[in-house]
Amino acid sequence: MDYVTISHGAGGSVMQEFIKNHILSKLGGSGVEVPLEVLDDAAVVEGIILKSDNHTVKPIFFPGGDLGRISISGTVNDIAALGGEPIALAAGFIIEEGLPISQFDKVVDSMKATCDEAGVHVVTGDTKVIERGGLDKFMINVSGIGRRSKFLDSNIETVRSFREFNSKWLLDSNIRDGDVIISSGYIGDHGVALLSSREGYGFESSVKSDVAPLNKLVENALKEGGIVAMKDPTRGGLANLLNEWADKSKIGIKIYEEKIPVRESVKAACNMLGIDPLEIGNEGKMIIATVKEKAEDVLQVIKKHKYGRDAAIIGEATIKIQGVVLETELGGRRILPPPLGDPVPRIC
Ligand code: MG
Repeated sequence: MDYVTISHGAGGSVMQEFIKNHILSKLGGSGVEVPLEVLDDAAVVEGIILKSDNHTVKPIFFPGGDLGRISISGTVNDIAALGGEPIALAAGFIIEEGLPISQFDKVVDSMKATCDEAGVHVVTGDTKVIERGGLDKFMINVSGIGRRSKFLDSNIETVRSFREFNSKWLLDSNIRDGDVIISSGYIGDHGVALLSSREGYGFESSVKSDVAPLNKLVENALKEGGIVAMKDPTRGGLANLLNEWADKSKIGIKIYEEKIPVRESVKAACNMLGIDPLEIGNEGKMIIATVKEKAEDVLQVIKKHKYGRDAAIIGEATIKIQGVVLETELGGRRILPPPLGDPVPRIC
């Protein structure tokens, strides 16, 4: 008999197969504007963006954030990634009997602070309690609706002044030959901070989670114009994101390895633990693809935002290769395969 394993929820190729074979085959086929089977950051139904996200992060409080901040940021960022802005959120709480109410309050206070930062409210929800042992402390579902950003149409007009562009939204399938890939900042912080605080490795004093709502940063970038796709590198990290883009856009992606922003402390932690910083989840980063003519302008705008100070151009799309290839300055090349799953479980 087959059973669900941790890797079925770890954001890599094992999860993708699980979703395709056991969910899309049954629940797909809606025919809406951006449907379930596209597996993009969110769906679009009659012009409204719709997103749902469960949060099972362990521990609830970690260096740089907590369950409350991650639950709001995750949904806001997925709505932003399509070229949207959030209208309203719904919060579902599932709580294990015995959770200190002071911890519950702290998480909800953090949700409120993150909502204020993102400029959105929780307007409906549900609260359930499960008997002791039936659940690990506390889980939150945050769902949300969003509308088209008021800057998305002008952004697409800018793209069209340089090349053909047929999509109404910033989808994973939009990337074409010559497009430039930007990271909004350091990769790997969240996963390392989480793992370190959980297992007591001691890196958490130098590495904090990046968890943050990115809708304002995205709005500034859209205002500049020239963006073709956006995605947040959560479970499975940058490696999974780039492979999804290459696969859905049917294009090769070349990444300049030395240009990927990774902190020395994160590199050291990953070396010690034998994991790849490109495969671990981030919760406050956006990977942005632009037409090459606008890449430098978009980069400069992102760098002006507090969550984009360390942004960098990290690569480009090309028809000359297949899949995702990392290149070093000395001319070394290696394929970056899609990870089977995030090496750090329960990070979001
Ligand atoms: Mg996403």
